Amino acid sequence: MAAPMTPAGGEVENIGGTDVGAASVLRFWAEDAHNIRCVRAEDFDAHIIRLQAEVAALQARLMIADQRVDELEADKRRLDALESEYWDVRHHSSPIADTGDHSTSIEIIGHWMDKPHERVIGENYNENLRAAIDQAMKADAYPPARPEYPELDAALTEDNWRMNPCKQGHRDVGACGGKAFCHTCDETITASTTQEAFEEWNAEHPAPEQ
Ligand SMILES: [Zn+2]
Repeated sequence: MAAPMTPAGGEVENIGGTDVGAASVLRFWAEDAHNIRCVRAEDFDAHIIRLQAEVAALQARLMIADQRVDELEADKRRLDALESEYWDVRHHSSPIADTGDHSTSIEIIGHWMDKPHERVIGENYNENLRAAIDQAMKADAYPPARPEYPELDAALTEDNWRMNPCKQGHRDVGACGGKAFCHTCDETITASTTQEAFEEWNAEHPAPEQ
């Protein structure tokens, strides 16, 4: 390392501290400081500590701001997609059995010249519009009329994924559209995805005795 410029006879101490550029600041004994402005060491150290704290606080704020920008950019991409693709957003409300409550679903509808002219390319059953748009943004150029879930269909046909009977013992049960339900008594479990509804159903309904 090149020797720093030193007043004659001066003792030079590099005080370190890389965060705020303190590495380039040299400390001299006062008798050598003819034309050098002196700072009391404790004042200088306190100043460095304050600057380091400010740098740390700014870095923390920058991280939060970066995260926020990422979130907002994701929302911008969603809004841009809605605008440029002329998608419709549709809300459906349906009563949940006899609970007096309603479940709401969201559909993102795309338009095609070929039949079917309207195709559901995104859906969510948990009032999560962003998730529905995200799904629509990943849709094929010529998607089916409704999203298909080959993995779930495959799982449903496997023996270990069979749905257990409802609480009243009906065996005519099924799952689709974010719901697992009994066709006979309308007992229903609604979740954000059909897979989740299906899993919750089996968790709450024991398998029948063999
Ligand atoms: Zn039932």
